Amino acid sequence: RESQSVKRPLVLPPGTDNDKFQRFIEEIASVTGSENVTVISDEAELYHDNYLDPGKAHDMFHIVYKTRLVSSAVVAPRNVPDVQSIMKICNMFEIPVWPFSIGRNVGYGGAAPRVPGSVGLDMGRHMNKVLEVNVEGAYALLEPGVTFSALHEYLVTNNLRDKLWVDVPDLGGGSIIGNTIERGVGYTPYGDHWMMHCGMEVVLPDGTLIRTGMGSLPSPDEDSSLPPHEQPPNKCWQLFNYGFGPYNDGIFSQSSLGIVVKMGMWLMVNPGGYQSYLITIPRDEDLHQAIETIRPLRVGMVLQNVPTLRHILLDAAVMGDRKSYTNEDRPLNDAELDAIAASLGLGRWNFYGALYGPEPVRVAMWQVIKASFSSIKGVKFFFPEEMPDNVVLQTRHLTLQGIPTMTELKWVDWLPNGAHLFFSPIAKVTGEDAVAQYEVTRRRSEEFGFDFIGTFIVGMREMHHIVCIVFDKKDPDSRQRAHRLIKILIDDAAARGWGEYRTHLALMDQIASTYNFNNNSMMRLNEAIKNALDPKGILAPGKNGIWPKNYDPSMYKI
Ligand code: ADP
Repeated sequence: RESQSVKRPLVLPPGTDNDKFQRFIEEIASVTGSENVTVISDEAELYHDNYLDPGKAHDMFHIVYKTRLVSSAVVAPRNVPDVQSIMKICNMFEIPVWPFSIGRNVGYGGAAPRVPGSVGLDMGRHMNKVLEVNVEGAYALLEPGVTFSALHEYLVTNNLRDKLWVDVPDLGGGSIIGNTIERGVGYTPYGDHWMMHCGMEVVLPDGTLIRTGMGSLPSPDEDSSLPPHEQPPNKCWQLFNYGFGPYNDGIFSQSSLGIVVKMGMWLMVNPGGYQSYLITIPRDEDLHQAIETIRPLRVGMVLQNVPTLRHILLDAAVMGDRKSYTNEDRPLNDAELDAIAASLGLGRWNFYGALYGPEPVRVAMWQVIKASFSSIKGVKFFFPEEMPDNVVLQTRHLTLQGIPTMTELKWVDWLPNGAHLFFSPIAKVTGEDAVAQYEVTRRRSEEFGFDFIGTFIVGMREMHHIVCIVFDKKDPDSRQRAHRLIKILIDDAAARGWGEYRTHLALMDQIASTYNFNNNSMMRLNEAIKNALDPKGILAPGKNGIWPKNYDPSMYKI
């Protein structure tokens, strides 16, 4: 049956002609209603290129040309059965689907699919409810569209903020589910989001619905008149992660094996007192000593939260664009960086942390922290009330107590038409490793004409070293330099035994190939699981470098 009613997409799914695509879209629309299906038929539909108005079919911070990685259509399921039906139709037509929750995965690909022409699954548009906040158990049960800001607002509106806090990343507009399954981080004691999730409900590639952990043990209140996704869950689903038998949650993280439709998240109990602080560290070469100071404090839990050691330019970029500091085209040199630090009253490195608990606890912790950092010559200690005009400290003051903000968006405007790409290697918490990573990443950034902008985010026993490659997205030369830079950095890092924790779509293959112990045995395991659970390779093919057997990865090289 030939149809004239559906527009032709800019990019068709692989192996799909327009006629088949038309039939597919009609089939999908018969499930979700046509108002929930948008065919991406015109470049004008890709104009959304702002964090506040994110694109749903492409990467607003694209490093390859804008229409290289786009969806053929975006479909917004209304509920779990819609998701299950969509998976069945995609299997029937062998058309790939790329789920996202909000699409604000900036620096890592946004809403864009890895395989051009995939169908974007906009999980967050309708499925955006806070299903439960349990005060006694200190957890929330969420749908994909719940953003960090929305959960925070929920706590405020329901007068729960004096009991529970959300952990938020730098920007509050992304989804908790998307960020958590991508293993994003925040900055309170609950900063490792994946560690703090508890229990998932997942649609498998064939449409089967599962609950992980304790969720697979039915509740005694089970009601046979309800469909599985509406069954009252086990009372311990959000309290104990592991359930019985193999712990499967991991295979749904950074993966292409399931669509997460519900997830539990532990919330931090309001600690009964809070004080954020800034420690300015004057010289570039103090990095070594600063990290050596941080390690015992962090692993010993005197540093209670996930603190950050930020390079001066990250703070400077939040406070002004590049032009407000220099007219030079070349990367800023050490003397210029010192001058910027001096003019802002900051150090070359700036350490942001917080104390949690009643006053006597905070006072005791602060004494130990101050004494340790005081061994670094010239450090200064500040509370936010002493620097009312320092927008970074004022913002960290909010972030570190779980209040979401959008302020950190500003550093992206360091360059005109600013966009960014994250290079995110894991580092040991040692002076030696931090200095080595800083040296390589700064030198390479400068070789490619970029200023080094970065931060060390200190987990329990490692650091996420986040290098923010800011480029001009309207300038093909700038984009290409950024792309070439990150490729070289990935190789530089792998040669030294450093690997990235997460990456942009365009770099997934390269990074996956660096995790190649024993003749790629991990990739072979990943492929075996992928092919078993998704024999037609319809769910997020190529994600994190895992290609289903019916794909030829060489056709999708970026
Ligand atoms: P954010 O919520 O920060 O805007 P995205 O919605 O862009 O992030 O999601 C980031 C990535 O996480 C997606 O590209 C996708 O790979 C994965 N993802 C997000 N939501 C889901 C989901 N509900 N099920 C499966 N994968 C998801």
